[in-house]
Amino acid sequence: MVIYLDNNATTRPLDCVIEAMLPIMREGFANPSSLHRPGQDARHRIDIAREQVASLINAEPKEILFTSGGTESINLAIRGIMAASPNKRHVITSTVEHAAVHSLAGQLRRENVAVDEISVDEDGRLDTDELEDKITQQTAVISVAHANNETGILFDVRRVIEIASQKGVPVHLDAVQSAGKIPLDVKQLPATLLSFSAHKLHGPKGVGALYLRRRTRLSPMLMGGQQEAGLRPGTENTPGIVGFGIAAQEAARLDPAESESIRCLRDDLETRIKATIPCARIIGESANRLCNTSSIGFERLAADAILLLLSEQGIAASAGSACSSGAIEPSRVLNAMGIPPEIAHGAIRFSLSRFTTKTEIERTAQVLSQVVGRLSSLAH
Ligand code: PLP
Repeated sequence: MVIYLDNNATTRPLDCVIEAMLPIMREGFANPSSLHRPGQDARHRIDIAREQVASLINAEPKEILFTSGGTESINLAIRGIMAASPNKRHVITSTVEHAAVHSLAGQLRRENVAVDEISVDEDGRLDTDELEDKITQQTAVISVAHANNETGILFDVRRVIEIASQKGVPVHLDAVQSAGKIPLDVKQLPATLLSFSAHKLHGPKGVGALYLRRRTRLSPMLMGGQQEAGLRPGTENTPGIVGFGIAAQEAARLDPAESESIRCLRDDLETRIKATIPCARIIGESANRLCNTSSIGFERLAADAILLLLSEQGIAASAGSACSSGAIEPSRVLNAMGIPPEIAHGAIRFSLSRFTTKTEIERTAQVLSQVVGRLSSLAH
């Protein structure tokens, strides 16, 4: 059995999610826009899912638009807001965003939009003074991640929203990693837009949602029919949406004690690693982090070699580095945090879930210590 510690990449769909989707694929396949009975039944299932997803973040069902996932929601949020106020040609984001925001920011620059990326400190904290300084009359939207996918570090988004609302600028939160892991309430945390994705919270892939606060002007990015209030045309992915609804319902029911037990396992993993591997450095250790994520740099080792040896022992984790043009590049996120390259090169991300067990953590710590020992002896 594989020890799966890559839950920030994607999660295992819950059995109840799969069971809810199967009959929709087999029998509930009618087009939700059709006026006949099967079509209206499919529409009804989507309405239920919309309520389930809305209640995960304490939104109104009408404020939820279904999309094909986090990437699409993010693109629709940022581009949709900009297109609705075309005279504003400035966007603010951060230096540690997911590729969905980072690449879009690059494309916007090529389209002559001014983009400012706010810096972070070594613990991944956003410089909110810099953010305040960068806002102008031209700023169309501020888009930041609630929780970082590589490190799990949480931004002080409450402060971001406070600053932005004083200047009347809408805030889009990329909540793809935080939704379902920590409580989110759009009445308490009044972001204008919020993106999330089913496959990160034990739902199916290829389906996500954009929360759009009532009375916010947004232009569609795709032209087509009147689905999703005309803001996201195209025949709905009914099985995916139904599965997303069930996953959201289960996430909303998650007992805080369960998150605490995930945190204990994560902390136990870090304690064991620190005790046995002197070259290990926990990234963002003192920052406010998601309870399931641990990013660990192994000094002067290569992340891909560690991952390969872990994988041979049945342990699935991820690297904080990307291989491009034959050379391992340290992660853009860790680089922006000022993590030295000799640590960032050997950075591994372990991301736990409610299915992770103590035995798995013990085994991972033990195997990791052997793997790092082996690689260190080769390196010296
Ligand atoms: N934003 C963050 C923070 C993510 O971690 C991811 C996925 O890894 C995405 C956006 C993109 O989501 P999706 O895979 O649903 O397109």
